[in-house]
Amino acid sequence: MTWQDDFKASFMPNRPVPPVLLTHGEGSTVWDSEGNAYLDLFAGIAVSSLGHAHPALVAAVTAQVGRIAHVGPLLTSEPEIRLAQRLIELIGVPGKVFFCNSGTEANDAAFKLIRKHAGPDKYIVAMENGFHGRTMGALAMTGKKAIREPFGPYGVDVRFVPYGDAEALKAAVTDGCAAVILETTQGEAGVIPAPAGYLTAARQACDAVGALLVLDEIQSGIGRTGTWFAHQHEGVIPDILTLAKGLGGGIPIGLVIGFGPAGDIFAPGDHGGTFGGNPVAASAALAVLDTIERDGLLAHAVKIGDLLSAGIAGVDHPLLAGVRGSGLWLGLMLTEPVAAQVRESAQRAGFLVNNVQADAIRLAPPLTLTAEEARSFIDALPAILDGVTA
Ligand SMILES: *Cc1c(COP(=O)(O)O)cnc(C)c1O
Repeated sequence: MTWQDDFKASFMPNRPVPPVLLTHGEGSTVWDSEGNAYLDLFAGIAVSSLGHAHPALVAAVTAQVGRIAHVGPLLTSEPEIRLAQRLIELIGVPGKVFFCNSGTEANDAAFKLIRKHAGPDKYIVAMENGFHGRTMGALAMTGKKAIREPFGPYGVDVRFVPYGDAEALKAAVTDGCAAVILETTQGEAGVIPAPAGYLTAARQACDAVGALLVLDEIQSGIGRTGTWFAHQHEGVIPDILTLAKGLGGGIPIGLVIGFGPAGDIFAPGDHGGTFGGNPVAASAALAVLDTIERDGLLAHAVKIGDLLSAGIAGVDHPLLAGVRGSGLWLGLMLTEPVAAQVRESAQRAGFLVNNVQADAIRLAPPLTLTAEEARSFIDALPAILDGVTA
């Protein structure tokens, strides 16, 4: 039996058999079960923000698990309190936190905040092709039809508008609107940034009718675009912010923050979870934030992201239409729907990338990626594209 056979026999068929089984990693390099090394340009969906086996993460998690691994929501620990304070400090606006374990849980918590705030009769505005997670509340607000439609109806009025169209958004946000939820850049749709001014327009549309603005920064947050949070580029403060992915550097964690009055929507008992605020996860997140700060990884993400993006834009190949995105979060646009083959060809060349759409490749490498590593991908890209057999 190969591991592929074991995988097929053991797991529900929602997950296709993966192309590689990873055994370990160091920095931005990972190794598979056959001993092959790869430059990891995807970081497990924008999660391993410090790369692999980073000494600061290893030390923080090891020390905390040796102290106390779990306290539960009825008690608390120092790491979870410090982490909540730290995140609010980084955003610079007073707010209150609820910790959970994943992105979809964070958005489900946001969904309950919206419902509690506005009642059952108002509607939510969300974005076409947006992605907010796979549990029922988050899925109801997810615009990607292929994953939303098979599981409806959801019993909630969610109205979808085209992403980036400020006029369409304004028209959709009327007195009956409870909230607008959106990503600052659409990740799963293929790394599609909002046009300049869009977040401001969303903020104004919400303010005009008293609707909550919910920003899903689960993928864009924690330095991915070169600021702590992507909304800081435009200086727009949401009422509710959700985070997960890169925060724990690979240890599961998620959270929702409510700013101002949105921090006090829940009454005692309104929401909860056994593992939220877990001290090991909180310690991991504190190590990630400390390392980003200490090593100047926000500026580094901009510098290496610009280098990578300019290098890719300079590659002249009939399959490459261009590059979009910012910081260490890029979408390579292809002229043909061959992203799956490009991913395979990249893997053969020693690079892990993601075919996020049929005609788009996503890069979301560790924030610690070096200039030399970025250049190695740029140099290899023409041959990777040549290696695509239609
Ligand atoms: C990944 C993602 C989610 C869901 O997070 P999970 O941890 O997979 O549940 C939600 N929103 C966005 C923008 C994401 O990228």
